[in-house]
Amino acid sequence: MKSIRTILREHDIRPRKSYGQSFLEDINIIDKIARAAALKETETVVEIGSGLGVLTAMMAKRAAKVIALEIDPRLVTVLEEELQMYSNVEIVAEDVLRFDFRQAADETIDRKVKVVGNIPYNISSPIIFGLMDYRDSISEMVLMMQREVAERLSAVPGTKEYGIPTVLVNMYAQVSTILDVPPTCFFPPPRVHSQVIRISIRERPLTELTDEGFFTRLVKASFAQRRKTLFNNLKGSGLFGRDISTLESVLSAAGIDGGRRGETLTPEEFGRLSNITRELIKK
Ligand code: SAH
Repeated sequence: MKSIRTILREHDIRPRKSYGQSFLEDINIIDKIARAAALKETETVVEIGSGLGVLTAMMAKRAAKVIALEIDPRLVTVLEEELQMYSNVEIVAEDVLRFDFRQAADETIDRKVKVVGNIPYNISSPIIFGLMDYRDSISEMVLMMQREVAERLSAVPGTKEYGIPTVLVNMYAQVSTILDVPPTCFFPPPRVHSQVIRISIRERPLTELTDEGFFTRLVKASFAQRRKTLFNNLKGSGLFGRDISTLESVLSAAGIDGGRRGETLTPEEFGRLSNITRELIKK
């Protein structure tokens, strides 16, 4: 296997910051990511941002099919050349934020794809939320991202890392840390530390939500100003009408003290609050 720098030199490519291009160079880490993905030979994996195709090649040997998403046409050319011996790799020159994961999943046996990638850090939040919207079509994700972003997803209530993304992701998925990756493992080295995490979609959400859209708005409102109490954030949110007695009765029915801060509520508590509110205030 050629080195990252050799491939870049041969194709006369300079990495682009705007595409978050930092290529994993440490073969040991690439191997660990591929192993963490625990690919089965019947499985289809969608790789986000295949870059120069090193991880892609490793996964192609283990999975039924790899769909390699890459937005940069220069890298698409490289991928087509470097991966031509793998008949089970489909290179898709597309923005991950526009890719239809459902359609890809519907073409597989179990109607689900696995998602793996060293994702472009500048758009990691939209990627993660976009993937969560496709959760019915995804079995599991193994993703590398900026360490701070990863830590927010695996945070526990009451910590400063715990916030909107933590609650929205954990309601539907279980997050676990796989490994930390220092900047020296990449070329060019990013300015931040990275972390690989696993996001396993739960068979059922922690709470069976009667209105997912409302749940999302409730969580966002509860963290609107972190120093404010839950009651004060929700009072100002417009989600409970003008009369504070509605909010008071919802909190009391849910058994949640409005004097707490949003960051102390578990995803289940947000779920309960959401369902009770939806029950009390009919649309
Ligand atoms: N997986 C490779 C490259 C990681 S860098 C490796 O580990 O070496 C991130 C990659 O995502 C780059 O190849 C970049 O061109 C690509 N990328 C950036 N934005 C993208 C988008 N919106 N859709 C798909 N790929 C994107």
